[in-house]
Amino acid sequence: MTSLLELAQAQQYPVATLYVVATPIGNLADITLRALHVLGLVDRIAAEDTRNTGQLLTRFGLSKPLIAVHEHNEREAAQRVIDFLRAGERVACVSDAGTPGISDPGAKLVDAVREAGFQVVPLPGASALATALSAAGDWVATFTFLGFLPPKPKQRATALQSLVAHEHAMVFYEAPHRIVETVQALADAFGPGRRLLIARELTKLHEALHRCTLAEAPAWLAEDANRQRGEFVLVVEGAQVAAASGEDHDALLRVLLQEVPVKSAAKLAAALTGASRNALYARALELKGEEKEDD
Ligand code: SAM
Repeated sequence: MTSLLELAQAQQYPVATLYVVATPIGNLADITLRALHVLGLVDRIAAEDTRNTGQLLTRFGLSKPLIAVHEHNEREAAQRVIDFLRAGERVACVSDAGTPGISDPGAKLVDAVREAGFQVVPLPGASALATALSAAGDWVATFTFLGFLPPKPKQRATALQSLVAHEHAMVFYEAPHRIVETVQALADAFGPGRRLLIARELTKLHEALHRCTLAEAPAWLAEDANRQRGEFVLVVEGAQVAAASGEDHDALLRVLLQEVPVKSAAKLAAALTGASRNALYARALELKGEEKEDD
C-alpha cells in the first residue's frame, strides 16, 4: 500500500512556482503532510513574521531561508519573490496562522506572481473560517466571509447597516479587545432574534463554541471574563428571506402603524418577530408612504 508520505511526494511540484501553504491555527498537529513535504522541498519561504515561522519550522525539524512579506511591504517583497522564481526557485508563502490571503498577507503576492507569469499552487489546510463553519450547522448553508469589521464604532455601524438585509450567514473575525463591543454592535444592527455562533480559541486548549441569539450574547460574554479572551470567529444568521416573511411583517406593521409612530411600530415588531429593527423600520416607512398615497 502507498504510504501517506509517498502520496504527498507523488504530486507534481514544479520549479519556478509559488506554493501557498496553510499552517495550523492553534494545534500544531493540524499541519498537513503535504505542507511538511512542500516546506521541506522549497528553496525559501515568504513569511508574514519570520520569527514565528522560524519557530514553526524548528518545531518540525526544518530550516529555510525566510523573506518577510507582511501587510506593509507586500508589493515590494513580491518583487523579491518574483526574482527568486525567475531564477527557477520554488518559494512557499505562509502566514502566522491558517490560510494565507484570508485576512492575512498573501493575496497581493499571489496577484503579483501570477501577473509576472509564474504558477501559484495552493496547499489546503487550517483556516479559522472553515473550522468554525464546519461546526455551525445547517443555518449557515450559504455564507459571506467579511473578516474584521472596521474598528471605529461609526464606521462599524455603517458597515453593519449595509448588511441588514443580507440573506446569507455572515462570518466575522474578531480580536479579544473588541469582542464585547462588536457583539453589541451586531445585536444593535441586526436585532435580537438572529442566531449567533461564537467560536473561540479553535483547536486550542480553551476552545469553546457557543450558540445563542444576538440578544443573549452580550450577557453571556459579560458573565465570565474568560469568555472574552482569545481569538474569535463570529457567525451571524442572515436576514429572513423577504418573500417568506415579508407578508407577515407587513400585516403586523400595518396594525401597529394604526396605533403608534413608525419608530415604535418597528421596535414592537422587532421584539415580536425577532427580525431586524432597522429592516422593519425601513419597511414601516414604506408602508406609511403607501398609506399616504392611498389617502
Ligand atoms: N488566515 C487566518 C485563517 O485562515 O483563519 C486568519 C488570520 S487573521 C489575522 C486572525 C483572526 O482569525 C483572529 O483574530 C481570529 O478572528 C481568527 N482566528 C485565527 N485563529 C483562530 C482560532 N484558533 N480560533 C478562533 N479564531 C481564530
